[in-house]
Amino acid sequence: MENQYPVRFLNRMKNMLNSNEYVLFVKSLHQDSLKGLRVNTLKISSDDFLSFSPFTLSQVPWVENGFYYSKHERPGKHPYHEAGLYYIQEPSAMAVAPLLAPEPGEKVLDLAAAPGGKTGQLAEQMMGKGLLVANEIVPSRAKILAENVERLGIANALVTSESPQSLAKRLPQFFDRILLDAPCSGEGMFRKDEQARIEWSEENVWMCARRQAEILNCAAQMLRPGGTLIYSTCTFSSEENEQLIEEFLDQHPGFSLIPLPLKPGFSRGNPEWTHLKDEKIKGTVRVWPHIAQGEGHFMALLKKESFSSDEEEIQSCNGMKKKHRNAKSRDKSVKSALKKTINVFKEFCTAFDWNPSFDLSIERITLFGEQLYLLPEGSPDLEEMRVLRAGLHLGTLKKNRFEPSHALALSFPRWAQVPSVSYRADQKEIESYLKGETLPSPGDNGWVLIQVDGFPLGWGKRIDGIIKNHYPKGLRKNI
Ligand code: SAM
Repeated sequence: MENQYPVRFLNRMKNMLNSNEYVLFVKSLHQDSLKGLRVNTLKISSDDFLSFSPFTLSQVPWVENGFYYSKHERPGKHPYHEAGLYYIQEPSAMAVAPLLAPEPGEKVLDLAAAPGGKTGQLAEQMMGKGLLVANEIVPSRAKILAENVERLGIANALVTSESPQSLAKRLPQFFDRILLDAPCSGEGMFRKDEQARIEWSEENVWMCARRQAEILNCAAQMLRPGGTLIYSTCTFSSEENEQLIEEFLDQHPGFSLIPLPLKPGFSRGNPEWTHLKDEKIKGTVRVWPHIAQGEGHFMALLKKESFSSDEEEIQSCNGMKKKHRNAKSRDKSVKSALKKTINVFKEFCTAFDWNPSFDLSIERITLFGEQLYLLPEGSPDLEEMRVLRAGLHLGTLKKNRFEPSHALALSFPRWAQVPSVSYRADQKEIESYLKGETLPSPGDNGWVLIQVDGFPLGWGKRIDGIIKNHYPKGLRKNI
């Protein structure tokens, strides 16, 4: 096994770790990576899920709603996955978002968010209140992020696909909390990702460190004074971890490092791997595969104590703020189109026998072409931004008719009091529905929410005893 790993990588690890630790570390590379799922507490509590979970689960020590499952199980193929009851997530990766601890009502940014594991955790902690911007620079990955946001039933997220630089220009000092799970050399994922091993080079480690410094700088610009920022990687190299944080603190005197708590399985960051050897670096956290039941990870929590002394940052902030205020006003024709659309949506709600609890005022509703969205509270001006989801996608306006979106279906709670049909997870109707087939079902004509054990899966439209399938074509599969 050792020789499947780049020799230069192993030598670097030998230099970092003492000889006993190095032996244990290499031994851990022989072991299978661990599989994890995180219960989506936006939809169900861990205890409730455990009471009927079809999987054998054991607790991840550092996250209440995180569990290991055996490599023989396939939770990603179960209908509960399609209903968003959980997210398949590497156990160490679950550690980061809870340490940022966003609160309901805050403005939170997940700067490098795809596929969305940590976005889901931030949303759980925000409990649907406030603004969550989930950004991913690579458009194809941003699409997957948007699908996961939808499946998890997250209603208060803006999904964007911007570079950190352009986002920082638009949103200076805007966020209360920022999570930066940086693109890295991925050494911590080597045992589960052969491609990462093949692509590894020392030059790439250095390139990643430079890129991380740039992205972290952008994140710093977007944080409000008093706000907190968590930086994480899934790599072992000190250049991308302790050294990067040391350099950042040196160049940003307005920031301080907040020592992270040591949860079971966590280890301290090592000042010996930095240039200044400052003890405060011990406030960062490492997750090692030879110590914890998870892959390699690094985390550092930073606080912006004061306004940055960086003149350029302050100037760019002032300029952008003016632009936001000006762009806020909407012209009359847009307002009247919105009012009409809101009325069409209200007609749909009445026909569906549903009284939505959310704010349907014109400030919270936006139209992208024919697509109607409920904006999260505190949304910035979205003009000229690459936005994949502007909050909760309510549906599509089709010639004065309203067609509800899949995202809206998945945002309903369990056993919602609306026209619906529920099947048990093991009933053949569930398989048929997820394949895109029609379902025989007596009852009134109109939209129905299809549920698995009371959890929404998607839409159907009943006409004369047959439910026409509205499960999105792109999601249909054999499970
Ligand atoms: N936080 C995600 C999660 O928990 O599911 C994983 C994020 S992954 C470690 C890092 C992300 O950074 C990738 O999706 C990658 O496409 C993105 N990325 C790559 N280059 C970037 C850049 N220059 N700026 C910002 N993000 C970048």
